[in-house]
Amino acid sequence: MTNLNVYIDREISKDPAVLKEYTDQPTLMEMTQAALRVLEKKKDGFFLLIEGASIDKMEHPLDGPRATYDCIELDQAVGIAKKWAAEHGDTLVVVTADHNHSMSIVGTHDRRDNPDPDREGNGVYGDAGFPTYVDSNGDGFPDDPDPDVQLFYGWSNHPDHRDDFQHNATFLQPALVDEATGQSEPNPERDPKAMLQIGNLPGEESNCVHTVEDVWIMAAGPGSQRFNAVLDNTEVFFAMADAMQLRLPAPKRA
Ligand SMILES: [Zn+2]
Repeated sequence: MTNLNVYIDREISKDPAVLKEYTDQPTLMEMTQAALRVLEKKKDGFFLLIEGASIDKMEHPLDGPRATYDCIELDQAVGIAKKWAAEHGDTLVVVTADHNHSMSIVGTHDRRDNPDPDREGNGVYGDAGFPTYVDSNGDGFPDDPDPDVQLFYGWSNHPDHRDDFQHNATFLQPALVDEATGQSEPNPERDPKAMLQIGNLPGEESNCVHTVEDVWIMAAGPGSQRFNAVLDNTEVFFAMADAMQLRLPAPKRA
């Protein structure tokens, strides 16, 4: 099985060595449009799940820029769903996550005075200047994920790895498991000159892992009033089923 490439590799870098023969992969927005075009013909309504799956897939290997571009892609797919729902008037749109990750945006990484400042280029609080991303074609995605002031990503859990806090033009795993020892080691090809970030995960972990914080949930349309509080995750199913006026079988009693 082959995954779709992530947005930066598919739409920004377009490196033939990465894409190989898959040069016409759809965006999540195009897949959302296509799914709605098919499903809107259903007389009894429909349920459509749209997942920005590579946000997670890029947070595991500590790749903030690739995760962020895929967040923008999900945001634009939600925009398409909301526009469709507004035109039809009878559709509940729910947006949530199935878990959190350990990535935080801490500030910005600034290399205007020094091309390779390592952690000294990381500005926090008032020292975090505004990033210098440019969106000259107005498509909502920065033209270049690697400007001289870019977002500074921090991770609450991680393996031993090296990080120069700058976008990696080529995707690389942060750490690799040594088959002989079963222990992970920093990937020697990713940011080889950068300082070591000493891990806090067990030695066999080569990627960061999911975290347990609550996630947000947002809803609009008929039935959205059920999403107005802190919810147990099992409630989300019933709130959506009720909005669809599904008659659920009565629960079996022991
Ligand atoms: Zn995951």
